[in-house]
Amino acid sequence: MEETHSKSKSSNEETHFIPIEIVSEEEMGFIEAALSSVTRSSISSFPLQKGVKTLESTILLRSQRTLASCSIGRRSSDIEDSGGSHGKKLQVTESLLNRFRNKRGLSVTDVTTSEWCERQMEFILLHGKPKRTNAMKAGSTRHAELEEEVIKRVEISIQSVEESWAIKLMNFVVGTNQLLFEGLTREVPVIGLVEGVWMTGVIDEIRIPMKEAVRNPSLIDTKTRSKATLPSEAQKRNARLQLMCYKYLWDGMVADNFPSSNFFEFFRLNPQYVLSEDVKKYIASSGFHAETFGEMVTYFRNVCCLLPPAHEQLLLRYEFQGDHSLLDEYQFPYDVNWVKSHIQWCLKFWKGEREASYVSEDEQWKCRFCSFAAMCPMTDDKHVN
Ligand code: SF4
Repeated sequence: MEETHSKSKSSNEETHFIPIEIVSEEEMGFIEAALSSVTRSSISSFPLQKGVKTLESTILLRSQRTLASCSIGRRSSDIEDSGGSHGKKLQVTESLLNRFRNKRGLSVTDVTTSEWCERQMEFILLHGKPKRTNAMKAGSTRHAELEEEVIKRVEISIQSVEESWAIKLMNFVVGTNQLLFEGLTREVPVIGLVEGVWMTGVIDEIRIPMKEAVRNPSLIDTKTRSKATLPSEAQKRNARLQLMCYKYLWDGMVADNFPSSNFFEFFRLNPQYVLSEDVKKYIASSGFHAETFGEMVTYFRNVCCLLPPAHEQLLLRYEFQGDHSLLDEYQFPYDVNWVKSHIQWCLKFWKGEREASYVSEDEQWKCRFCSFAAMCPMTDDKHVN
């Protein structure tokens, strides 16, 4: 394993050296994110007061915010189509966007996974995701722990795609409400039309200063690492892209230009859909009464309008899975041109306007940890170091 060293400050402010690990199998953060985003996409939330019982009356709430899982499970539209193409030559005739993200849009994870290696993204779409490692599972467990500090999951029965979206939008409403009143929230879904393509994501954590006059939300992402090592530059760049995508989406949402008609049309949603009693009840617990899905979307838009843009500084945290100690905290400025150009380049690949690229020469070490190396043309005639 290739290692170097870097000066870093731990949480107790002592300066010491933490080795930088170029990459480890379990730290293939983009895959972990891909897997967790699928899990998150089926989660919804609704607000409840402390001590109020939910439909699942045995659950005691420790927070004002509750996450609910849709009891109908993953919908067919949420399940990735897995193509049957095998072998080293890939034949992709239809655009990946149409073939795999029709009716659901791209996720931020799709963008970051593509940034890691577009050919690998293509393999994942065509052959399915690699098996999860123990460290990936440990990372998910840690994220669940962080989530439980501020929210509690319960299950809500939903009857339609409209209700699934209604609950997702409520996730945002309740999350931002918690942010404004408590200064902290986690697992906030974001959505927007980016360069003509619908994109979704889930922000790990948002903080807002409670006592200052200017209160722009700070977007934070925590990465867990199985070894007490710092990430490679490629991993940091990938994580920067992820956080910048979140800010891009957040800022678009609060700018009051959410294209509702396009939203209904693209996701094939009926604004006149009458919500079920269960869903109405959960929405009502936030103080708003919606009869139809369209009313819920209007409510969501009104909430968005009241929020400020996200802070220009974004924060990445790296935590050791072993004892949850902080390995590094890394703040960096938002660069709208940088993120836009990355997204535009990425969309050309997804739309089939250009072929998938391979990793660059100086990042060929990624191939050593790639589950698809055996079938990748990159490894055909090259010895990957
Ligand atoms: S082997 Fe390398 S180039 Fe090929 S898909 Fe994997 S990471 Fe990408």
